[in-house]
Amino acid sequence: MSFQLSDSALLRNASFIDGVWQEGEGHKLPVVNPATGAVVAEVLTTDRKGTEKAIAAAEVAMTAWKAQPAKQRAQVLRRWFELMMTHQEDLAQIMTIEQGKAIAESRGEVAYGAAFMEWFGEQAKRIDGDVIPAPSADKRVVCIKQPVGVVAAITPWNFPNAMIARKAAPALAAGCSIVIKPASETPLSALAMAELAHRAGVPPGVVNVVVGASSAIGPALTESPVVRKLTFTGSTDVGRQLEQACAQTLKRTSMELGGNAPFIVFDDADLDAAVAGALVSKYRNSGQTCVCTNRILVQEGVYEEFVDRLVAATAALKMGDGLDPNTDQGPLVNEGAVDDVERLVALSTAAGATVALGGARSDLGPCFYQPTILTDVTPDMAVFRNEIFGPVAPVTVFHDESEAIALANDTEFGLAAYFYTRDIGRVWRVAEALDYGMVGINEGIISNEMAPFGGVKWSGSGREGSKYGIEDYLDIKYILMGGLDR
Ligand code: NAP
Repeated sequence: MSFQLSDSALLRNASFIDGVWQEGEGHKLPVVNPATGAVVAEVLTTDRKGTEKAIAAAEVAMTAWKAQPAKQRAQVLRRWFELMMTHQEDLAQIMTIEQGKAIAESRGEVAYGAAFMEWFGEQAKRIDGDVIPAPSADKRVVCIKQPVGVVAAITPWNFPNAMIARKAAPALAAGCSIVIKPASETPLSALAMAELAHRAGVPPGVVNVVVGASSAIGPALTESPVVRKLTFTGSTDVGRQLEQACAQTLKRTSMELGGNAPFIVFDDADLDAAVAGALVSKYRNSGQTCVCTNRILVQEGVYEEFVDRLVAATAALKMGDGLDPNTDQGPLVNEGAVDDVERLVALSTAAGATVALGGARSDLGPCFYQPTILTDVTPDMAVFRNEIFGPVAPVTVFHDESEAIALANDTEFGLAAYFYTRDIGRVWRVAEALDYGMVGINEGIISNEMAPFGGVKWSGSGREGSKYGIEDYLDIKYILMGGLDR
């Protein structure tokens, strides 16, 4: 399959610092299409020095950016939204060739990412303060909200566009500037977004994208006293390291980390809806999302029927190159990801899990793994305890509601959880008892720009999207006026 962009200037191959595409000699990062193994681009990387340049540019640019009326910042974000939607197809193709996901999913992600530009542009105009009752008659108390400062954003490869949009949009709306370090597997989507930000009228230095080794860029971001906030989406292990690094300069942080989502099917569930929800929640992006179903818990009365139906539905998924419009399941992001999935499945089958479907690599290429269903899974198994990040659905049986809740909460993670039931009392009981930041009831897809996305426990802190999302980029300033009776 080949790709064809209608606007080839969106395919950029260097970091974007202070409004300038970097040039010169240096290490080039190959970007590999996981479906074919082909190198689709080589990106000139930057290092600690380049990152420091970006931070300095962001500091300078922020002075004028935050001084713009909110309405003007909103108009820029609105133009960025419109440009992303105008170029949706090109952005989707760039995403699929570097990340592998099916083209329909890439188009959906571009629209999802763009929606944050639109939403936070609107929210820029609603950064309201407060007037608070004063402690005495001669005083008045007000609170205003101000941008937190220069923001650093470090993002993962599984949503190369949306994870940047969810951070850049509220940062810019609040009046902050931003230095973005995208994942090394997927720099092209980030650079295409920077190109569109530039066209939308984002001033030089307000949005910077630095591509290169995290060992050089990470410390430059975390050690800088100018950077006042780090927003990170990625693994829990790296999030923990970044929290520690940021402690030295006492930065504010937002952490969107790993998940281990339970998907509970009660006896009274609408099984058609539950199977459809499990399919989309498990196999979206070939299982490589933080909110992907990681463990399916099924009540004993419907266990066999649910498994039979899920096996039939999963067997119908078509694997292939994400650029093929008929593909449901693309490759995993790289061979290391396939190795990880293979290891988790081997550990679990050795411990007694049964392969009901798949359970092996595919002959389509080294990055493909078959959609897989494991049954007889118990809480001690590797697939139950770890974030799988691949197309493997482990199924566990349970007997009653309290056992389901205990199994669901038996993890350090707390990002997304799902359950299917028709009982209104159970809807509230279970939703309130689940130790998760987000709960989907009779729905397998829950993300949208209007709702607060985020987790608890080892899944992190902070919220992206919604009216709450912008608060992560704002400081509250309390102002006391005295002597008003004189
Ligand atoms: P990752 O290995 O943690 O990498 C994420 C980003 O961190 C990449 O840009 C990476 O750069 C960078 N990085 C790695 N080590 C670093 C260090 N020591 N200092 C500074 N930066 C560093 O995660 P991933 O494999 O890309 O993404 C998958 C994980 O993200 C999963 O756990 C998933 O659940 C989580 N995730 C969470 C959410 C959420 O909203 N909660 C959303 C999506 C994904 P390089 O690529 O250059 O190494």
